[in-house]
Amino acid sequence: MLEQLKREVYEANMQLPKLGLVTFTWGNVSGIDRKQGLYVIKPSGVDYEKLTPEDMVVVNLKGEVVEGKLNPSSDTPTHTYLYNHFPKIGGIVHTHSPWAVSFAAANMDIPALNTTHADTFYTDVPAANALTKEEIAEDYEGNTGKTIVQTFQDRHLDYEATPAALVSQHGPFAWGETAAKAVYNAKVLEVVAQEDFHTFELTHRSSELPQYLLDKHYYRKHGKNAYYGQTNAQSKTHAKRK
Ligand SMILES: [Zn+2]
Repeated sequence: MLEQLKREVYEANMQLPKLGLVTFTWGNVSGIDRKQGLYVIKPSGVDYEKLTPEDMVVVNLKGEVVEGKLNPSSDTPTHTYLYNHFPKIGGIVHTHSPWAVSFAAANMDIPALNTTHADTFYTDVPAANALTKEEIAEDYEGNTGKTIVQTFQDRHLDYEATPAALVSQHGPFAWGETAAKAVYNAKVLEVVAQEDFHTFELTHRSSELPQYLLDKHYYRKHGKNAYYGQTNAQSKTHAKRK
């Protein structure tokens, strides 16, 4: 069942150690088949070297395991909540990558200070509201998803334009149209977190990216007038042939 998606999610998981985003087994990627309402996620606590595509666990949108010999990631309820409330995402990744965790530990947003940030994230990446003692006791992982969604609602953020969030004193979640795109966004987040940290070390002056530069970079890559890369070149060629 979902063999192709299992392979994609397996490969996306294997990118995490290669990109320096995980230590030991601290991370997980999932990817969803929206038509079937099923998603595929890494099993809990399995070493990346030992992981195989067949180990991936199939889960439904109620968070129930549909297929798999191993237990799914302990963060599965967070993934379930995000898939249910962010209906256009196709993949989710969670890591404990150290620069993003540093901002999460400080309970600070990762601010938009440079164009690398603006190429992928249209706003500051928000630090989600911290969970209460009761929320942690009641349903820790489910409420982790809930506080991310609530933070996006409270701050009128668009989850497609800003495809990541920090969980307070914990770490980042990132998402995207596919599992591979979610991993890409998680890596960009880690890079900009490191850059922001160094910018703060270098200057105490405000380094906020002006809105016109943020707009320029974000919309160069996203939306109907995007022109970065080769996609447009191809479509122009096709248009000429008609
Ligand atoms: Zn975690």
